[in-house]
Amino acid sequence: MLAAELRLHDVRVLVLEKETEPASAVRIVGLHIRSLELMAMRGLLERILPHGRKRPAGAYFAAIAKPAPPGLDSRYAYLLGIPQPVIERLLEEHAVEQGAQVRRGCAVAGFEQDDEGVSVELADGERLRSRYLVGCDGARSTVRKLLGVGFPGEPARTESLMGEMEVGVPQEEVAVTVAAIRETHQRFWLRPAGVGVYSVLVPAAGVSDRAEPPTLEVFKQQLRAIAGTDFGVHSPRWLSRFGDATRLADSYRVGRVLLAGDAAHIHPPIGGQGLNLGIQDAFNLGWKLAAQIHGWAPETLLDTYQTERRPVAEAVLDNTRAQTELLSTEPGAQAVRRLLTELMDFDEVNLHLLEKITATGIRYDFGAGPDLLGRRLRDIDVKQGNLYDLLHRGRGLLLDRTERLTVDGWSDRVDHLADSTAALDAPSVLLRPDGHVAWIGDDQQGLDDHLSRWFGKPAH
Ligand SMILES: Cc1cc2nc3c(=O)[nH]c(=O)nc-3n(C[C@H](O)[C@H](O)[C@H](O)COP(=O)(O)OP(=O)(O)OC[C@H]3O[C@@H](n4cnc5c(N)ncnc54)[C@H](O)[C@@H]3O)c2cc1C
Repeated sequence: MLAAELRLHDVRVLVLEKETEPASAVRIVGLHIRSLELMAMRGLLERILPHGRKRPAGAYFAAIAKPAPPGLDSRYAYLLGIPQPVIERLLEEHAVEQGAQVRRGCAVAGFEQDDEGVSVELADGERLRSRYLVGCDGARSTVRKLLGVGFPGEPARTESLMGEMEVGVPQEEVAVTVAAIRETHQRFWLRPAGVGVYSVLVPAAGVSDRAEPPTLEVFKQQLRAIAGTDFGVHSPRWLSRFGDATRLADSYRVGRVLLAGDAAHIHPPIGGQGLNLGIQDAFNLGWKLAAQIHGWAPETLLDTYQTERRPVAEAVLDNTRAQTELLSTEPGAQAVRRLLTELMDFDEVNLHLLEKITATGIRYDFGAGPDLLGRRLRDIDVKQGNLYDLLHRGRGLLLDRTERLTVDGWSDRVDHLADSTAALDAPSVLLRPDGHVAWIGDDQQGLDDHLSRWFGKPAH
């Protein structure tokens, strides 16, 4: 995602991936509302939709089975169920089409930075030079460790085994047994994941050897312990083990080296937020890093990546901590779960929790102003059609209902849409390339101040 965002702004990008082949483990639930909006903003949604399955947006907070509340404020108010390897492939294809270079089988082993750039050393000794380096290298990030950035938090308390395999008993039999167990055990499932294939999740408790990948025999043993039967599972597609460690990088940037995605934050997978969060990091960072490289970034722009995104990750860590407690089988936790389930009958409570999971409730701190300032603008109707279709090039946009403002001086970075009919409850808004509202008003001076704040000095 970051590579594609940088390419939109004509920045040369090289992606170094240590694995020679893409991963096959299907980890994620899918793309939540905000990620779908980002895809729509870059014209990618059409490409992704045929590979996924639309599901209702609700019922993801601690897996509490409540439908989404009415009045969800988005044109994309659903979850798109889509396997992680498919998203990764589509994003990689997109980045390559945009001109990014991807080299597989290249592990970053070391780097040094100076005033002009970063010298990167690969495991095979090859040396490369770039102006910036972004560690998108996952939870065990080499880049983060080499930077010496702390990764404080809590180690894993519980671990789970997950995999895909076939079952040897009829589907109805599986469904009845699984439903009964899931009334009290939220850390267990066995559910269809494609033709003839089931996704299996079981606790790893008692499975001691963490270094070795889990075997089918281990899955059978855990299934028998929890369900009294191993459902005749066989023919595994892939098997994996994961924990619920929760950690946040102390810093997202040291000089010319930055961190994004799991390299910067890890948390339990409950709610299905990790990959979504990483995509959104990349969306926040891409245009800022491009501006820095092209030399028009205001002095503090690149640092707003950390000031905006680290609190978002902090909030996600917190909501996953809370959700994890709600999954406990302890009587106290179960009572709190029942209470929260009741409270979610209030639409406002339900919506508040849904906005956390779907990242639609984020409001960056851009200073005092109306509630919309710092929030994302939803995809409203404008005279040319959908607003998001006008953001495909990753530029700023002045949506001007007064029809008398101008972006002269910044027109190489910011588009101007004069449209008095736009379905917007404000005179005019300035949108950043990530779709967040950077200014609301109707006066040219105020607009110019904010154009300078976000897009640097005018070109003339
Ligand atoms: C069981 C499970 C379920 C999950 N469910 C969801 C979900 O439903 N929704 C959701 O949004 N998220 C979910 N997640 C989280 C999601 O999988 C991660 O947040 C996401 O993969 C993070 O993406 P990333 O690109 O930051 O890191 P990764 O996916 O870890 O990718 C990092 C890449 O860097 C490469 N790399 C590592 N070191 C080097 C090096 N030195 N040099 C070069 N390359 C290197 C790795 O090979 C890897 O390809 C789940 C996770 C788990 C474990």
